[in-house]
Amino acid sequence: MIIFSGGTGTPKLLVGLEKVFKEEELNIIVNTAEDIWISGNLLCPDVDSVLYTLAGIMDKKTWWGVKDDSFHTHNALERLQHPEHLMIGDNDRATHIARSELLRQGKSLTEATAALARSFGIPDRIKILPMTDEPATVRTKILTPEGELHFQEFWVARKGEPEVLDVHFEGIDEVNPSEAVVEALEKESEALVLIGPSNPITSVGPILGLKGIRELLKWKIVMAISPIVGTEAVSGPAGKLMRAKGFDVSPYGVYTCYKEFLDVLVIDKNDECAVDTGVDVLKTDIMIKKDKDSKRLATFLKKHSMR
Ligand code: GDP
Repeated sequence: MIIFSGGTGTPKLLVGLEKVFKEEELNIIVNTAEDIWISGNLLCPDVDSVLYTLAGIMDKKTWWGVKDDSFHTHNALERLQHPEHLMIGDNDRATHIARSELLRQGKSLTEATAALARSFGIPDRIKILPMTDEPATVRTKILTPEGELHFQEFWVARKGEPEVLDVHFEGIDEVNPSEAVVEALEKESEALVLIGPSNPITSVGPILGLKGIRELLKWKIVMAISPIVGTEAVSGPAGKLMRAKGFDVSPYGVYTCYKEFLDVLVIDKNDECAVDTGVDVLKTDIMIKKDKDSKRLATFLKKHSMR
């Protein structure tokens, strides 16, 4: 199975998918448009969330960073007049250092991620595939009345408060998807693509924006799980960003984001969504508060993916 992932909603679902689809290879294609070099190291927020979730060390209170991490280096840097605008825990930073060293040794981001996954004890059948091997070359930019902000600046430093006029992915036209991503999507045996409950604009949007990806999806059975329940995103700025891009903030808006290749849309049990013929709408509880919710939703997806 192929899964498209950002850094919160889909990782939550991965907890259950990993258990329920335990006989299968999971190819997780992960957004890298929020990646950023900080203090000499490459931070890949979404790849890290996927790694930490599958390694069982994710901070599930915040859905970023390693649980029970310390912040000695972050605080020491501040005392040295070198403040970082993101809070980076010590264990989290170790991942960034190891990744960056592997890149400096000439490894690709895909290879570096595989090496990290092995060190974390993540089974081989789970392939974590950064969407491109050209690190930090696609950058999500948020256009606000005061100018353009890097996504991290908008969301972390400014807490998502500025008005959003537009969102675009700087560099997307010059960047290729990684070989591993294309290979996974070209495999005929991988018929099912699951678009997890991630932000359709800033997490799934960059993956879909890479050359050839939308075309490859037309040959697949594509199942998307809505990150919107009712008229709000479960968390994060998806609602604000969808609105800025002219989409309705509703399961229908999610459907319109994926319409050209979508086969199945999974929405909340209390929601409605009108779709064109050829797209099935399935209703279930799509809120993931605990690991057992993730397992239940993954079991539901398995049952319906076999039909
Ligand atoms: P990001 O990289 O941190 O933005 O993470 P994602 O894009 O993977 O996840 C953010 C999206 O996940 C938001 O749009 C949320 O609405 C959605 N989300 C978070 N928790 C849940 C949940 O429990 N259920 C569903 N259906 N969506 C969720």
